[in-house]
Amino acid sequence: MMTNVAWLLLIPAAMAMGWLFGRRGGEIKGGAKISRLSNTYFRGLNYLLNEQQDKALEIFLQIAEVDKETVETQFALGHLFRRRGEVDRAIRLHQNLVARTGLSEEQKTRASLELGEDYMRAGLLDRAETLFNDLVNMGVHAPKALQQLISIYQSERDWPQAIAHALKYEQISGQAMGESIAHYYCELAEKFIHENNPGSARDQIALAYSSDSQCVRAGMLEGKLDLLENNDAAAIRAFERVARHDVDYLPEVLPDLMACYERRNELMRARGFLQEVIENYAGVTPLLALTELIERQDGEAVAQDFLAKQLLQRPSVRGEAVLLGKVVAQPVSDPAEMLKTLKQITDQLLVRSANYRCNNCGFGARAHHWQCPSCKHWGSVKPLLNLLGS
Ligand SMILES: [Zn+2]
Repeated sequence: MMTNVAWLLLIPAAMAMGWLFGRRGGEIKGGAKISRLSNTYFRGLNYLLNEQQDKALEIFLQIAEVDKETVETQFALGHLFRRRGEVDRAIRLHQNLVARTGLSEEQKTRASLELGEDYMRAGLLDRAETLFNDLVNMGVHAPKALQQLISIYQSERDWPQAIAHALKYEQISGQAMGESIAHYYCELAEKFIHENNPGSARDQIALAYSSDSQCVRAGMLEGKLDLLENNDAAAIRAFERVARHDVDYLPEVLPDLMACYERRNELMRARGFLQEVIENYAGVTPLLALTELIERQDGEAVAQDFLAKQLLQRPSVRGEAVLLGKVVAQPVSDPAEMLKTLKQITDQLLVRSANYRCNNCGFGARAHHWQCPSCKHWGSVKPLLNLLGS
């Protein structure tokens, strides 16, 4: 996929080149040269499109031989070398371009960018870093160079530098980097937690929040620190905030959160919080936690009734299994009514579940399709051995 896109990016340059050759040849020597060069060029383009890199390389080397001045050919060649993993050749080629006289400023800095990418590919991160920093300081191609620097600092886990350059990138490009920067601060906070330095960890967490006020990871780290310091009240606040910022992370924090409520004997607060989150969370985990609380405080009959009513609105196999367990363990006041409810829940589960799945792409469907609606593969959508037990 990636290589396809990369080849396509080469086409405009190749097109311009073909046009250039065609035209220049025409001015100098007439028709014969035009057709020879454009034939060569189109053969090269064809090889590129068919991903026959060896043959494309041969053609481009020929073109470069005919016209040594054509910088675009050199760029295309450099690109090809790097794609093929011949990083040394790409480095030599781009170094020559950078050192060459008579290039425009734009071409020179473009060659530097390419050279920086070669260095990154070769694992020469120090050299790449120096080169990209020079480009940033010169103010040319700064956004592109900053992006490369950020990825270098990320792979070196040099978070302070990653933060500094992301801020600069945000300033120059206008593109918001707050979410990434908050993660860099969280990486630093984790490092400090690991080094038993909670004070510095908390400073980084505060900075993460100032970069991204909705940062879920900062909330989770804060709760973890609070737990380490046996501050359950603060941990409850931190974990509740995580769920409010992004309820999808609820299952990650719920076990710790419930343990905190328990230790502080704040079961009413727990009930209120769970009641609030089950309104906007589709999963069954908080529902089951709430059912347990209700059972402890109001008795088994109330809990059974509550769970049955909730499962009618949001049927789930796991929830139904819990309900059946309760029914088996505890005599039901109205068995006929409970059976009716269980049947309704089961019917809904059957209606909602996918009965067919594509073996090629995993697409789930309720009806059968000979051709997969998602990946268009023929004959790969088959009946599932799921709840229906086909
Ligand atoms: Zn499919």
